[in-house]
Amino acid sequence: MTQIPEGTSLLDRIEGVRTRIREAAQRSSRSPDEITLVAVSKTHPIKAIQDALAAGLTDFGENRVQEAETKIPIVGREIAKWHLIGHLQSNKGRRAVELFDVIHSLDSASLAHRLDRMCEEINRASLPVLIQVDLGHETTKTGVAEGELPEVVTTVQGCERLQLIGLMTLPPFFDEADRVRPYFRRLRELRDELRTSGAFGDRRGELSMGMTHDFEIAIEEGATIVRVGTAIFGERG
Ligand SMILES: *Cc1c(COP(=O)(O)O)cnc(C)c1O
Repeated sequence: MTQIPEGTSLLDRIEGVRTRIREAAQRSSRSPDEITLVAVSKTHPIKAIQDALAAGLTDFGENRVQEAETKIPIVGREIAKWHLIGHLQSNKGRRAVELFDVIHSLDSASLAHRLDRMCEEINRASLPVLIQVDLGHETTKTGVAEGELPEVVTTVQGCERLQLIGLMTLPPFFDEADRVRPYFRRLRELRDELRTSGAFGDRRGELSMGMTHDFEIAIEEGATIVRVGTAIFGERG
């Protein structure tokens, strides 16, 4: 299942992912420059992140606050941009607001209120967030159901310190990656509707979708942020 040949170097793998991003963008008449590669470093050691930084990557994704706490302060806040991509437990909100630049996994109105309050407490003026939408209705995954999206959007807009920058999804896994396409397409439609209604202000409205298995399909469907772990860092232990 993995597409990583044995023995390739980190540099080769990053270059490989970049090439695939560029080709997928070209196939869909898009500019590769409008796509941000978030390197998902969860479970991988600090050294791997530092090597990836040295290789020119700038954005990193972690899914657990507890793990991120042991890595982000050491790697540094200034030289990298940190994305929280996993479900945020209620007791970790404050730490998340202290550590992360962007939160992709906003999945409830109550979490929005909590994060807004934490920003106020630590004097953070603004926190960019993406709402995670659950399009697959999988009980194992978190996210806002489509029907509840308008309400959560309104809530975020009412939070003084939260800045709604886009939508994120984690679709079901299919062996045949192309079956995921309708989910990506749906997220784009939702983003387009929100953009038309002004939910993102004058911003474009990010689409955070696509992982190792399916990031090229996500790009063809409009992804502006892809979250890639395995294809960069190798299999997680
Ligand atoms: C782990 C993870 C990824 C990266 O997955 P890979 O298949 O290793 O590329 C992307 N998004 C989320 C939310 C994740 O938890």
